[in-house]
Amino acid sequence: MPDSPIATPLQSAFDAHHPPSKQIIENCVHCGFCLPVCPTYVLWNEEMDSPRGRIYLMKLATEGAATINPQWVSHFDSCLGCMACMTACPSGVDYGKLIEATRAQIERHHPRSRGERLHRRFLFAIFTRPDRLRLLRWPLLAYQKSGLQSLVRSVGILNLFPKRLQSMEALMPKLGPNEPVPEITPAQGGQRRRVGLLLGCVQREFFPQVNAATARVLAAEGCEVVAPQEQPCCGALMVHAGEEEGALALARKTIDAFERARVDTIVTNAAGCGSNVKDYGHLLRDDPNYADRAKVFAAKCKDITEVLAELPSRAPRNPLRLRVAFHDSCHLQHAQGVRSQPRQLLANIPELELTEIPENAICCGSAGIYNLVQPDAANALSDRKAELIAPLNANVVATGNPGCLLQLQSSLARLGRNTPVVHTVQILDASIRGEPL
Ligand code: SF4
Ligand code: SF4
Repeated sequence: MPDSPIATPLQSAFDAHHPPSKQIIENCVHCGFCLPVCPTYVLWNEEMDSPRGRIYLMKLATEGAATINPQWVSHFDSCLGCMACMTACPSGVDYGKLIEATRAQIERHHPRSRGERLHRRFLFAIFTRPDRLRLLRWPLLAYQKSGLQSLVRSVGILNLFPKRLQSMEALMPKLGPNEPVPEITPAQGGQRRRVGLLLGCVQREFFPQVNAATARVLAAEGCEVVAPQEQPCCGALMVHAGEEEGALALARKTIDAFERARVDTIVTNAAGCGSNVKDYGHLLRDDPNYADRAKVFAAKCKDITEVLAELPSRAPRNPLRLRVAFHDSCHLQHAQGVRSQPRQLLANIPELELTEIPENAICCGSAGIYNLVQPDAANALSDRKAELIAPLNANVVATGNPGCLLQLQSSLARLGRNTPVVHTVQILDASIRGEPL
C-alpha cells in the first residue's frame, strides 16, 4: 500500500527576525469596528485596504499562503500607520506592532523599483538630517521671497512635473526667521523641573518658531529647558517606513545625547517623534547595551501638552479672542492617547473659543513620508479634512505635529482658505506673552 501523503506546513513568507506576531494576528476577531475610522477604507471601500483586511493578509503570509509580492505590498504601502484602528478596536489588537514588523519585512524582501528606491533614499537622506535641511533653508527662502514660487504656482508649470515633486512643492512651509533654541533656557521664577527638549528635524529647521515657543512656555512655567545641540533625528520616519537598522542607530544616538543632559522629563512637540521615542524600549529590545536604558528613556518622554497639563499653571494667561479649530494628530491621539490635554490647555485661555473638527479620528493624510510617497491618497484625505474645517469659520487651526501643519495648510490653500495652522504651544505662548498670535 502506498504511504498516505503527509501534509507539510507551508513556509511563512516572513523571515525569522521579528515577523508580525501570530498572537496579535489571532487577537483580531474580524468584527470590523475599525473599518469606519480607517482612512483608506473610507476612501476606497476595499476590504484589503482596511485594518481587518491587512491583518488577514499578514495571516496568509505567516501561513505561507501568500507571498510578499507587489500586489500584497501595495496594501501595506497604502496604510498610513495612523493607528486609528487601534483606538477603535474593542479586542485591543496592537496593529502598530504588526505594521511596524510587516514594513521591516517588506523592506528586506521586496525589491522596489529604481525610482522608488531613489525617492525613498532621497527623503531619508534629507528629512532625517537637520544639517542638510538647514542647507536647504537658503534656496527655499530665495525661492519664496523672490516671487518665483508665486510665479511657478500661478502659471501651473508644476503640472508638467511628477506628482511627487508637485506634492513636495505644495507642502513647502512658509519659512520665517530662524529662532534656534539655546542649549539651556533658564526657568523663570523658582525651578520646578529640568526638562530636555527633543528638537526634531523638520520642526527644528522649518518650524523653529514652534521650538522657540515650546522653550518659552516651559521656562515661564518654571522648567529649565535643556536642548542638547548634538541630538540627532530620533528615527521616527525610518521606523514608520520599515527602515529598521537606520532607525536603531538614530535611537541609540538620541539616548546617548539625553543621558548626558540628565533631565527629569524629555519633552516632545512633534507627535510622530513623540510616539517613536515612547516606543524605544520595544525598538531596542534586542540590544543588550541599550534595552534597559531605552526603557528608562522612553518612560521620561512626554508630549508638551502632557507636561503642561500636569504642572499646575503658574504663568498667567492673557485673553486671546480667537475661534480655534483643534485638529488631533494621529500620532498624538491614537499612538500616544493624548486627547484631553491640548483641549484643556486651550480652553483655559480667556476668551478663546474652541471648536471641534468632525471626523476627528480620521487622518489628514500627512503620516510621516506618506504624503510624499502616496500623494493621491494623501491629498484626497487632506482635501476632505479642509472641507470639514472650512465651515467652522475658525480664525486658526491648532495641531500638535509639523506634518499635519504642512498638510492642512496646503489643503486649506487649495480650497482658497488662508486660515493659519499653528502648533498648540504657539497659542499658549501668545497668551502667556500677551501678544497677538
Ligand atoms: S493604521 Fe490607519 S490606515 Fe492603517 S489600517 Fe489602521 S486605520 Fe487604516
Ligand atoms: S476592530 Fe480589532 S478585532 Fe475588530 S476587525 Fe478591527 S482589528 Fe480586528
